[in-house]
Amino acid sequence: MSLVQFVEQTLGTDNAHRYINQLLETVQERNPSEVEFHQAVREVLISLIPVLSQKPKYMEHAVLDRLVEPDRLISFRVPWTDDTGKIRVNRGYRVQFSNAIGPYKGGLRFHPSVNASIIKFLGFEQIFKNALTGQSIGGGKGGADFDPRGKSDLEIMRFCQSFMTELSKHIGPDTDVPAGDIGVGAREIGYMFGQYKKLVGAYEAGVLTGKGIGYGGSLGRKEATGYGAVYFVEEMLKSAGLGFNGSTVVVSGSGNVSIYAMEKAMQLGAKVVACSDSSGYIYHQAGINLDTIKRLKEVEYRRCQDYVLEHPDAVYVEGCSGIWTIACDIALPCATQNEINKLSAELLVRNGVKAVGEGANMPSTLEAIDVFLDNNVLFAPAKAANAGGVSVSALEMAQNSARLAWTMEEVDLKLQQIMHNIYSESLKASQDYGVPGNLVVGANIAGFVKVADAMIAQGV
Ligand code: GLU
Repeated sequence: MSLVQFVEQTLGTDNAHRYINQLLETVQERNPSEVEFHQAVREVLISLIPVLSQKPKYMEHAVLDRLVEPDRLISFRVPWTDDTGKIRVNRGYRVQFSNAIGPYKGGLRFHPSVNASIIKFLGFEQIFKNALTGQSIGGGKGGADFDPRGKSDLEIMRFCQSFMTELSKHIGPDTDVPAGDIGVGAREIGYMFGQYKKLVGAYEAGVLTGKGIGYGGSLGRKEATGYGAVYFVEEMLKSAGLGFNGSTVVVSGSGNVSIYAMEKAMQLGAKVVACSDSSGYIYHQAGINLDTIKRLKEVEYRRCQDYVLEHPDAVYVEGCSGIWTIACDIALPCATQNEINKLSAELLVRNGVKAVGEGANMPSTLEAIDVFLDNNVLFAPAKAANAGGVSVSALEMAQNSARLAWTMEEVDLKLQQIMHNIYSESLKASQDYGVPGNLVVGANIAGFVKVADAMIAQGV
């Protein structure tokens, strides 16, 4: 059942629908022009109608009125000097959305598109995603409108140091624990950790996650989001008697999430035929060579385009959305928000896609999600499917607190267990609230209930 049909079915049945409509209007009025934030709130609020109908206490305690307003949004100047000696200025953000069940937790994104709306949509999603993992982590997010593309290593370092000089005032191992996201990987986390350490004068390993293995990072963190997404999709496929083995897969993006989603899908017997970056996509009918992609992206910081220099039987096409015209059994959008619109979703359906797993945050528009659900495509929503990254971040925090380090096998086993639990909890919530198999609704409800109950217990 699509979200549209779902709303129609619940329409007029009780106060819940009216309440949600009013709240959505308030959110739009209070946060004008923050379209990504509106979209994320809309998806969650609509999904929660059946819980509010059955449990009006959540309306009486104004849980959602409180949750759509972050605890605080910090915005700050980030001045830095480029290699020519010119002074440059970017804007940094940290949104601390909810610490009802644990310290604020969520990544940092460095990308020119970053603004308050993007950071707030990501922070809002993070509340429910983090609750779904079953770990004690609240919701937060941050970043800057800084473009790391084409910057030298020293420029990246100076930017990270300046960014952390301000951010350090607002974070801490029990307060708020940032990590990576688009444009922020182990290198950036390293520079930020170095600066934080210098500023506070103490070795607080648990203040950031995604650290290098030699100084407090967790084995398996780098792989966790991609592996976790594939573990989740494999569970979903299993319920329909399907699997990755023998399937053709398209994975957008070529960053951390995409690379390890490709790796795990290949390990499970899939053929991955395409991936992309923000300039265009590569199609390799024989199957993508992951070693080449890893070297190009992780070591040499180069573009996907260069892949065809080494693999002349592959083709490179300018522009990103064309990747969804490729026929596949399973689509894993692992690039960025709103990369699949209604038209792309329709093309995927026409070409026979059986399952979609969201590795990125909010990669499908609401209309695209409806196309998938209307056409009975198995759909794994981001909050559930990409929760593996933050889950292993929480495992990194646990290792830092205990001052020990687990093996890759231990971490991977825990990740598989967590993804399994997220799948069963989301499925159960979808069944309990009358939309069996709709994991969008199921994941939102399962995450929400944990946060809402904690908020009620802690008072206003
Ligand atoms: N940026 C990732 C996410 O969207 C990971 C966050 C983290 O590890 O704290 O969930």
